Amino acid sequence: MKLLVTGGAGYIGAVVARRLRDEGHAILLIDDLSTGHRAAASGFELVVGDCGDRRLVGALMKEKRIEGVIHLAASALVSESVADPAKYYRNNLERSLALLGEMREAGVARLVLSSTAAVYGEPVALPIQEDHPTQPTNPYGETKLALERALRWMHAARGMDFVALRYFNAAGASADGALGEVHDPETHLVPNVLKAAAGGSPVPIYGTDYATPDGTAVRDYIHVEDIAEAHVLAVERLSRRGGALTVNLGNGAGFSVLQVIEAARRVTGRDLPTRPMPRRPGDPETLVASSALAGRELGWAPRTTDLDAIIETAWRFARTHPRGFED
Ligand code: UDP
Repeated sequence: MKLLVTGGAGYIGAVVARRLRDEGHAILLIDDLSTGHRAAASGFELVVGDCGDRRLVGALMKEKRIEGVIHLAASALVSESVADPAKYYRNNLERSLALLGEMREAGVARLVLSSTAAVYGEPVALPIQEDHPTQPTNPYGETKLALERALRWMHAARGMDFVALRYFNAAGASADGALGEVHDPETHLVPNVLKAAAGGSPVPIYGTDYATPDGTAVRDYIHVEDIAEAHVLAVERLSRRGGALTVNLGNGAGFSVLQVIEAARRVTGRDLPTRPMPRRPGDPETLVASSALAGRELGWAPRTTDLDAIIETAWRFARTHPRGFED
């Protein structure tokens, strides 16, 4: 299929694009490079621009004969979303609705949405299944949930087939070590821990008073290549039978911040200074997925589930890219 990948120069988008191309799809990337990197898109046709720019996207859809959209472009930081909600409504909702409008104009009716565990809010039952109540505790989750809902209505109106993938915590780097996580500033746990291992400043531990076994927040870390694989399966499903599907992508195991730090100590063999800090606003205590539905509906199962193995791939990337992508 001829696919437009929005956010294709980002951490997850670049790995997804490569995996889809390996599967034989023709890929066009669009990314405004606000957080993505040109180097991560190397070897791909990249349009630098806003996926909510209707003129640009409308022309691309028609000229490039796009048949489906993989929509990853978004702002995706919980605490930033709490501090600047309008940015999240603009980037995640307004721009996405513009993209959907142009898809409609061009008769493109297949979409894979990058969604998030943040749609659930504070869990009332674990592991979290897709029918768990959705009560986001931050604008990031709220805007993704609104977009999922819009897609459901559009599907009901026979305007859109979609698969929404609710990622839990993406981690790790591509198997060949070429693509990994680089943000500036970096706010994510695994890259921050590895920076500290490489001699950077101590890792902040945001919250040591959660009601978890060691007091730190628990997350479900899912390897970025496993996330990419789910996109391949989602595209296959859309071309085979269309429909509307929303599934979690997690590895089903929860690890605390301290467990991640311990794993990084084992993998790197380095000392890892830490610094206790207050909780970050909007951060839930525990997020652990049930991915049984993705197994049943997509035939998906995560392959790299061992925490040390996930961190090992990220460490290989960190060592070979000490200054990120340098662009
Ligand atoms: N975290 C931390 N120190 C850091 C970065 C993150 O303690 O330097 C914590 C954060 O509060 C959360 C977990 O690690 O409980 C995962 O955070 P991350 O930003 O990686 O992903 P999020 O769950 O916010 O999407």
